[in-house]
Amino acid sequence: MLSMTPYDAASPQEARVQPLIDGFGRTVSYLRVSVTDRCDLRCVYCMSEHMTFLPKAEVLTLEELDRIASAFVALGTRKLRITGGEPLVRKGVMGLFENLSRHLKSGALDELTLTTNGTRLEEFAADLARLGVRRVNVSMDTLDPAKFRVLTRGGQLPKVMAGIDAALAAGLSVKINAVALKDDNAAELPDLIAWAHARGCDMTLIEAMPLGEIEVDRTDQFLSLKDVRRGLESFWTLNEIAHRTGGPARYVRVEETGGRLGFITPLSHNFCESCNRVRLTCTGTLHTCLGREDASDLRAVIRAGADDAGLVDAIRLAIDAKPQGHDFHIERAAAPAVARHMSTTGG
Ligand code: SAM
Ligand code: SF4
Repeated sequence: MLSMTPYDAASPQEARVQPLIDGFGRTVSYLRVSVTDRCDLRCVYCMSEHMTFLPKAEVLTLEELDRIASAFVALGTRKLRITGGEPLVRKGVMGLFENLSRHLKSGALDELTLTTNGTRLEEFAADLARLGVRRVNVSMDTLDPAKFRVLTRGGQLPKVMAGIDAALAAGLSVKINAVALKDDNAAELPDLIAWAHARGCDMTLIEAMPLGEIEVDRTDQFLSLKDVRRGLESFWTLNEIAHRTGGPARYVRVEETGGRLGFITPLSHNFCESCNRVRLTCTGTLHTCLGREDASDLRAVIRAGADDAGLVDAIRLAIDAKPQGHDFHIERAAAPAVARHMSTTGG
């Protein structure tokens, strides 16, 4: 276990005193924390083939990540999602989960979750469940091992599937996330959805977002989920349901499979008016909007020796300036809307 921070005492009552409310009246209650920019895969829509990763000194230590995340919890954050890069490749990441799980025990936090590519889930699923994680998102864009190797530039699909099985066996709810790609997986999306639903997993489809330079032109790969939905409705009955997980997905039930299907549509329908999320990168940069260049350097704040009040002030200042919305347009998506990759910001 890592050393504790002054936020250990944060009680739900204290946390509710002064919630984080931005300049547009939205309460920020959900923090995504990217714990590393590194990854064991190189998905074509996410990273370029030859990425330059950050030097270690620039990356927050696990204690620093805990300190900032815990400050958010003390300020009313009810949901933490650990992401990356690939979070499970960060050395010692289970110590961070163990430490953060104290906020679940105290009742200050409703949920501690994880987004992973699944390659190391077999190893960690039981520990995650033991530490209070109830749900994990696993990104998997295809059921075809050869296509998976191409899309991830070398990934092994059986490892991911074994990770999903291990997570289910450990009692975790698993949601499968897939980015909808016109050429690479559009035709097999129904099979992927049926596969997930047959295992009792929810499934979410995501529109490719213009984040960071990659080798391919994203306009070639972009697939509107409006069109995907229309296609699915030609042979399935999709009924809108009120289910929400705190994120941007809007859900339907597929009557024929009995499973839930979510759509994350940042381009064809933006959801900024109800945005409750901010993102912390592994370098301690707080991004209050995924699709804007806004950034607050919380690493500089804590490494300059700020006390907890100073850190809270810096967080409040950043939240106050949260932009009203992003500015993604697919017709401009040949060039990225923001320069940083999704693996830097944390999905
Ligand atoms: N490595 C983990 C994973 O793949 O789940 C966590 C980080 S990854 C950046 C989080 C999610 O972002 C994944 O579901 C991935 O498919 C998605 N993603 C990455 N780049 C994206 C992009 N340009 N547009 C839309 N989704 C993207
Ligand atoms: Fe790695 Fe996740 Fe990006 Fe794929 S989507 S390259 S698994 S960070």
